[in-house]
Amino acid sequence: MAVRFVIFSDLDATLLDHETYGFQPARPVLKKLKKMGIPVVLCTSKTRSETEAIATKLGLNHPFIVENGGAIFIPEGYFADSLFKKAGISIVNKGKYRLIQLGTPYPRLRSIFKAIREAVGIRMLGFGDLNADEIAAISGLGQKQAELARKREYDEPFFLEGSPEFELIEKKRKSGQSRINEKAFFERPAESEFCKTGRRVTSIIDGKGARPDQNTLLSKIKPIARRYGLRITAGGRFYHLTGDNDKGRAVRRLKKLYRLQQGKIIAIGLGDSANDWPMLKVVDLPVLVARPDGRHLKIPGKRKDLLRTTRPGSEGWAQAVNFFLSSRVSSIRTGRATAGRINK
Ligand SMILES: [Mg+2]
Repeated sequence: MAVRFVIFSDLDATLLDHETYGFQPARPVLKKLKKMGIPVVLCTSKTRSETEAIATKLGLNHPFIVENGGAIFIPEGYFADSLFKKAGISIVNKGKYRLIQLGTPYPRLRSIFKAIREAVGIRMLGFGDLNADEIAAISGLGQKQAELARKREYDEPFFLEGSPEFELIEKKRKSGQSRINEKAFFERPAESEFCKTGRRVTSIIDGKGARPDQNTLLSKIKPIARRYGLRITAGGRFYHLTGDNDKGRAVRRLKKLYRLQQGKIIAIGLGDSANDWPMLKVVDLPVLVARPDGRHLKIPGKRKDLLRTTRPGSEGWAQAVNFFLSSRVSSIRTGRATAGRINK
């Protein structure tokens, strides 16, 4: 029997360019996948509204996983309703979707976020503290997309004092300027603590001493979040406060549904950040996409068969998917290792 691929993919800095959010280099491959009937399941920290808009742009009509595994939206009729029962997965009907809820509702996350902030005495800002203009400034999103990014249901993205994002917002608020030149504020990362944000401040270190180490601050916050039954992960730009959910748990559920529907499947997973690791752990062919500077972010675990792209963002995405679709697929089918770097 032919082996069927199912692709699970992160968006930011994986299928989409880190800076421009474009996906031009992946277009021909997406077209090919559509022709071949290979599903591309988006698996992102973005909100449902953002992901829906991007799926439409990408021409995808498959399930998608939002807010770091907080929920799975499955188009109505995509899987037979009897399949959910068979898989032991409970669903909620939500408009044109069957919804699998795995996350903690946003109002609860926000109230715990505030409690943590008070308890640790560290200045931190979440999306719930920001207006759309401020989200646009720190993320590089357009105003419209920033509005969609604020419609959170299961995940609070946040950043800490000492980060470029925090200092930018502070400066904007102090100066009363609705817009300052954000581009001049950020530059591509050198090797630094701030690599995880993908950006770095150029000019605001004013000699008043080093900015607080983000990892030290985070180590104070994490145990308190855990006490509330929540977790914190690092995305490509922000930290994320979520319930006891992650991308991997969501992917496992969809894998089960695809298996029941299609028989044997091979799951490909593509991501670039620590919050993608739970997804990369549970797929058959994991891919770590390079960051804009060509490096790979540190991820919390190891897999010998992890494939690393040499190209960043959608270029790297296309590189990896083409690799799997190429003649080398025969070696995957026989289970030979595909680890290493793609060098073409
Ligand atoms: Mg990413």
